[in-house]
Amino acid sequence: MRAVCEICPHHCSLEEGQTGSCHARRGDNGRVVSANYGKITSMALDPIEKKPLAMFHPGSRILSVGSFGCNLRCPFCQNSEISQAGESIENTFLSPQDLVAAALNLKQRNNIGVAFTYNEPLVGFEYVLDCSRLLHQAGLLSVIVTNGMICKEPMKELLPFVDAMNIDLKGFSQGFYDWCGGCLDTVKDTISMCCQSCHVEVTCLIIPGMNDSPEEMLALSKWLSSLDKGIVLHITRFFPSFHMLNHSPTDISLMHRLKEAAEKYLDNVFLGNVW
Ligand code: SF4
Repeated sequence: MRAVCEICPHHCSLEEGQTGSCHARRGDNGRVVSANYGKITSMALDPIEKKPLAMFHPGSRILSVGSFGCNLRCPFCQNSEISQAGESIENTFLSPQDLVAAALNLKQRNNIGVAFTYNEPLVGFEYVLDCSRLLHQAGLLSVIVTNGMICKEPMKELLPFVDAMNIDLKGFSQGFYDWCGGCLDTVKDTISMCCQSCHVEVTCLIIPGMNDSPEEMLALSKWLSSLDKGIVLHITRFFPSFHMLNHSPTDISLMHRLKEAAEKYLDNVFLGNVW
């Protein structure tokens, strides 16, 4: 019996045992279940600024966890070892209760909660939801670092338990999102909806020759300013990775020009990885 996944706009139709294109969800007895539930591949106590979140509890730290899987196929992925992996990747099971206990233990080291990050956390929707509910019960914060490729209904269900998000806005054309296997309108809808409910910052990674024109940055930041002129935009620098190992890092002077363009519309623009 086939089952259709309602988490993201790919709407994978999965036969029994078949895995979706994110490698993280599977058809099981006429339903779609999370195959990566609680399977942690990476865990670290990071500065909140590393998420990146520049204007949310600055100076604090956050327990950051990732699993495996992603619903995009960006050729420039900086985390492809886990984002493009499936169930065979080495992992450690951590129940939501155990994760919250670990986060509480780290409060004395300035930990404010848990960030779901590294791979695309929302393909493991049920784990993020269960953990976020428990985090709030424990007086801790839930942070999600996501590509924003999620349908409205699951996002609405999760939002009451989310305190902050960093959402990628990878480019400002559907052509760019076609290259990554995604949908620009879905990501715009996610940003619009979430910034009404929790603290949202946005990240745009600049890929040389692909999304690096000042015109595109002007259009992107103009649209963001229509939501909130104060929304934080992180413009970050590409380094060779995954299928783009033979490409040069983004030119630093270009990064500064793009920041200037974005500042025509936005009050809080930060450059990332510029050294
Ligand atoms: S979350 Fe995964 S299984 Fe579900 S529709 Fe998206 S890619 Fe397919």
